[in-house]
Amino acid sequence: KCPLHPGQTLRKGDPIDASLNLWSRRDVQTCTNWGAPVMWEGMFDPEVYDLEHRKRGSSVALTVFAVGKYLDAYLSEFLRSAERHFMPGLPVTYYVFTDMPERVGEVELGVGRTLEVVQVQRLQRWQDVSMMRMRAIADAIDSRIRHRHPYVFCLDVDQVFAGRFGSEALGESVALLHAFYYHRPRAFYTYDRNPASAARMEGRGDFYYHAAVFGGSWQSVWNLTEACYRGVVEDKRNGVEALWQDESHLNKYFWLHKPSKVLSPEYCWARHVGYRGDIRVTRLLWAEKHYDTLR
Ligand code: UDP
Ligand code: MN
Repeated sequence: KCPLHPGQTLRKGDPIDASLNLWSRRDVQTCTNWGAPVMWEGMFDPEVYDLEHRKRGSSVALTVFAVGKYLDAYLSEFLRSAERHFMPGLPVTYYVFTDMPERVGEVELGVGRTLEVVQVQRLQRWQDVSMMRMRAIADAIDSRIRHRHPYVFCLDVDQVFAGRFGSEALGESVALLHAFYYHRPRAFYTYDRNPASAARMEGRGDFYYHAAVFGGSWQSVWNLTEACYRGVVEDKRNGVEALWQDESHLNKYFWLHKPSKVLSPEYCWARHVGYRGDIRVTRLLWAEKHYDTLR
């Protein structure tokens, strides 16, 4: 599946990615058919990435939504674990989007790390909260992030960092393989196939990406969130909703605009998938879901 031969290095994308050893993992796909690396433990030297990004002065905006009950349920563990594992050694600003700014409280942050609260309204349906993120992220990139951070990552709050999620994950346009589907044939991918939805997938697709983690340069993330939001609005106008809301729109977008880097499911693992020999580290874990009380 990889267009390169052993011994060849990646030329596309970020020059640091030329340091990747695509051949160190023979049990997994380490490169897409359009030449983007798929990041797995063992392929990279974290030091090389960290040194280079510190030299470049890279900094990262991490957007996370904690609206309604999700604030008390998840935010503090998310932030505490991010302080230990998310982009260690790099300047990071957390952008916490919430309807209750006063409830965010004090968070102990390391040197070079800051937090900003962005007020958003609380929508009734959880589906709308999830989809509205695309609009709110695009707006925050416009008004603040683009002046300050070359890179943006956008994460669900219902997860906890458990291992390094570092600068090797940075790239122009970054998507994540969904833990449920990465080892399954394409026929299982739950793309939206409704002809009436803007998220409909006409092609067979590449991978099933998980909307709980995406990122890239601020410009790429702006393009993605703007396009997905346009799709959501078009669907509303037509009285339809994509099968998996924003995730369906995101999958459509990454089908049309291939990501320059793909993260393995180590970067968002679900323990209940069970033991998998190819998962050698877990970097971010799904937290327990309590939908009965949260939604
Ligand atoms: N979210 C929120 N409040 C809500 C619903 C969703 O803050 O009432 C945010 C939160 O960051 C959450 C994300 O939207 O992680 C996506 O929703 P959820 O995690 O419930 O979706 P799932 O991962 O189950 O598809
Ligand atoms: Mn989630």
